[in-house]
Amino acid sequence: MTLVRFAPSPTGRIHIGNTRAAILNWLFARKSGGQFILRYDDTDTVRSTEEYARSIAEDLAWLGIKPDRVEWQSKRFTRYDEVAAGLKARGLLYPCYETADELDRRRKRQQARGLPPVYDRAALNLTADEKAALEAEGRKPHWRFKLARAMVEWTDEIRGPVHIDTSTLSDPVLVREDGSYLYTFTSVIDDVDFAITHVIRGEDHVVNTAVQIEITRAIGGALPAYAHYSLLLGADGKGLSKRLGSLSIQQLREAGFEPMAVVSHAALLGTSDNIHPCIGYDELVEGFSLSKLSRAPARFDEAELAQLNAKLLHMLPYDAVKERLPGVTEAEWLAVRGNIEKLSGTMAWHAIINQQVDPVIGAEDADFIAAARRLLPAEPWDASTWKLWTEAIKQDTGRKGKPLFMPLRLALTGLDHGPELAALLPLIGRTRALQRLG
Ligand code: GLU
Repeated sequence: MTLVRFAPSPTGRIHIGNTRAAILNWLFARKSGGQFILRYDDTDTVRSTEEYARSIAEDLAWLGIKPDRVEWQSKRFTRYDEVAAGLKARGLLYPCYETADELDRRRKRQQARGLPPVYDRAALNLTADEKAALEAEGRKPHWRFKLARAMVEWTDEIRGPVHIDTSTLSDPVLVREDGSYLYTFTSVIDDVDFAITHVIRGEDHVVNTAVQIEITRAIGGALPAYAHYSLLLGADGKGLSKRLGSLSIQQLREAGFEPMAVVSHAALLGTSDNIHPCIGYDELVEGFSLSKLSRAPARFDEAELAQLNAKLLHMLPYDAVKERLPGVTEAEWLAVRGNIEKLSGTMAWHAIINQQVDPVIGAEDADFIAAARRLLPAEPWDASTWKLWTEAIKQDTGRKGKPLFMPLRLALTGLDHGPELAALLPLIGRTRALQRLG
């Protein structure tokens, strides 16, 4: 069975960038009838909080993503210790004592000599006595994984064949001085233990994948398939990373965006499909394929999201919104949904229809409006009333086009723009119309 995971670190809220990871994995799982694991990568116990974990679950729920299973790395330390001990015993995880400063100086020397800044494995040459002396000085080891220094190859489900020569990489640190584990390591153990079939994540992890493939082999695990999608750029073509803090799902929600607008945008950005609003997941699942994801970076433009949000609202049936619009009738919703950008905009029109407005009647239009008032048809009113009424006004005053409609709109709504008056007029009703035209 297809099994994928979304693996955020609960050290902050999720944003439009990692939301894409969640949505693409979710769509992939649904499309293949598989399952989706929400895995909290919370090995950094200082920065990870339960509150962030809760907020991630809430944000996913708002986006309509319901994990089939939830896992916490912080509950699996015994297992990580066990695997680390096995690698240490085989010399594949070796202790290093360099400080960050020492490593930095070494890197600078290598660069000055035109060499790649790859860790030189000096620690592998330490004798037992030297190690003991370093530890007596109070140094604690961090542990590096001994890469095979070979070509790692895989066929990426998005990028096609990828080759990475791990002799160009430093042996990665998998265990910090304080004994805590790095994600590179714990992620592999989880992916193997849970039998993850597909790892779908951003292209910033491509090099990690080469390392993780080696670790997976070292622990005798089965390799998943990998798919690395391209990262988002801002509308200006620059990286989004600095702005992601202000593009959290919480902020988008509070700014009044609809979940399916965010989902449609995140799911279709950077694919060969047009970005269009989808009312629910079914359509997205149906059309989903990793092969539609482009290798070129996708651009995230908030203005485009805003347009998509408006387009989605224009399509939403009353049932999808009525609970969030107290007092708004179906007829009102159908009349105004084409003229709002955010759902909350409905309430302003609800007030214009039902409450007092400040009619705008220019002095030059006073006689015209008085004539229009006299000609208001008797109730009952329906969708044809507007036409009947304006025909009569046209006969009487000789006005047509904008000079006919605009003063009526200004008097009836107080605004120079808005939904079709043919739809609004019967909702405003004769009593209020008479007041506004008076
Ligand atoms: N915790 C990792 C991250 O957020 C997960 C990456 C992965 O999917 O393996 O970058």
